[in-house]
Amino acid sequence: MATNSLDSIMEKWEPVIGLEVHAQLATQSKIFCRCRRTYGAAPNSHTCPVCLGYPGVLPVLNEQVVEFAIRMGQAVGCRVRSLSRFARKNYFYPDLPKGYQISQYDEPLCEGGSLSFYMEDGSVKTVGITRIHLEEDAGKAIHGLEDESYIDFNRCGTPLVEIVSEPDIRSPQEARRYLERLKQTLQYAGVSEADMEKGHLRCDANISVRPRGDGEFGTRTEMKNLNSFRGVERGLAYEIRRQVDILEQGGEVEQCTLTWDEAASETHLLRTKEEAQDYRYFPEPDLVPLEVDPDWVKAIKAELPELPAQIEERFTRDYNLRFQDIEILTRERELAAYYEAVVDGGVSPTEAARWVLGEVLRVLKEEHQEIGEFPMRPEALSELIKLCSQGIINRNTAKSVFDIMLTENLSAAEIVKRDQLGQVSDSATLEDTVLQVVSGLPAELERYRKGETRLLGFFMGQVMQATKGKGDPQVVRGILQRVLDEA
Ligand code: ADP
Ligand code: MG
Ligand code: ZN
Repeated sequence: MATNSLDSIMEKWEPVIGLEVHAQLATQSKIFCRCRRTYGAAPNSHTCPVCLGYPGVLPVLNEQVVEFAIRMGQAVGCRVRSLSRFARKNYFYPDLPKGYQISQYDEPLCEGGSLSFYMEDGSVKTVGITRIHLEEDAGKAIHGLEDESYIDFNRCGTPLVEIVSEPDIRSPQEARRYLERLKQTLQYAGVSEADMEKGHLRCDANISVRPRGDGEFGTRTEMKNLNSFRGVERGLAYEIRRQVDILEQGGEVEQCTLTWDEAASETHLLRTKEEAQDYRYFPEPDLVPLEVDPDWVKAIKAELPELPAQIEERFTRDYNLRFQDIEILTRERELAAYYEAVVDGGVSPTEAARWVLGEVLRVLKEEHQEIGEFPMRPEALSELIKLCSQGIINRNTAKSVFDIMLTENLSAAEIVKRDQLGQVSDSATLEDTVLQVVSGLPAELERYRKGETRLLGFFMGQVMQATKGKGDPQVVRGILQRVLDEA
């Protein structure tokens, strides 16, 4: 394998990547039956003759599934077909009891959209969306101990959209950002929880490389099982190197399907072109063609919730924050809402951002929590920030109060009062402390007077320590400066 850095490989070679992403729709029930869509329920507890594929049963299309798919289509600017069709994709696998998956083939529900997002350097990238179609998920094979395998059919018939991109992606980083933006859009549109850990978002990548400047695409391979953001980036980098290596040695890339093994950081061959399955797609005879009233599409479009690009624009306009900060604050709708609630509590947007990006995100990371599980109400955080900006406590004290608030059900003001944490800004008291500290350090005072003025910081530290961190730093600094210069 090449040891050259990916950057140097990419000076000569250009990757061409298209992603196929499956997203689970957050409907109450499954796509063709009334079973509940579940996660983590007892195996096979949410199944019925329809989703188990008994002979003679008939699928009935769930209207909410269609609505969610149309909403996602509208969120990325797709056209919605007034007539689309379901098709059977035939293959044999134990988790697919019917022996075919109901999907859409040559007449998908949505076509021709795009998704734009920021790259790390602030540039904007746009990737075309070829199509969004509906399909049902299969069950789950669980390979247990002692060579036993089990099948859980609860997932059978879970509604999915498959979102297919144009081959517009040009690097592993772009692929990752595309996927992050897609997840964010699904969540903002309210059509999917898009939780990768729960398998709500699964990604396959098609990838080829070509000499930079070449107009034609190279032979592509398909990589399955890129089910984390890190996996997408690492798997694609691995495959780019592999293809470039073959081409640089004068070989040819063979069209094949690979699977990414995250733990081993390598790909395994699933099948080559010659063995590629023929799915024998044909129109699903048990479902009538799906007719969509254009007025319904219009209504769905009119009621679209705020989307990522819109909230980014609004935050830029209203809060005047750095683009990098906005990006983090709006990545999840719940975090953005939390931040806005803190601001609404009467705090400056900059201060609120500082606390949410700093302390709140730190705790979420340490505790492996989602913002929805964060115990501190935004109003409570606003109160704390206000005590700080009013000078009642200083920033360091505020951080300790923040930590106490997480474990004790007390307000910031109650903690400050109980623990007597109020900042001392009374000049007479502080002057006493300053005089005491300075007179206790004659050697340093001597050096200061001989011109070593940088010792001011040292004296500051000593005084702040003597006040147990409660001295108002600005007042202390003023008094100290005067005392040292007069001494
Ligand atoms: P299939 O039916 O075999 O899945 P599609 O034409 O639907 O093939 O394309 C699947 C994905 O492959 C799309 O995301 C598309 O953008 C991407 N793709 C097509 N050609 C190439 C190529 N030469 N290199 C990389 N990706 C490609
Ligand atoms: Mg495909
Ligand atoms: Zn069912």
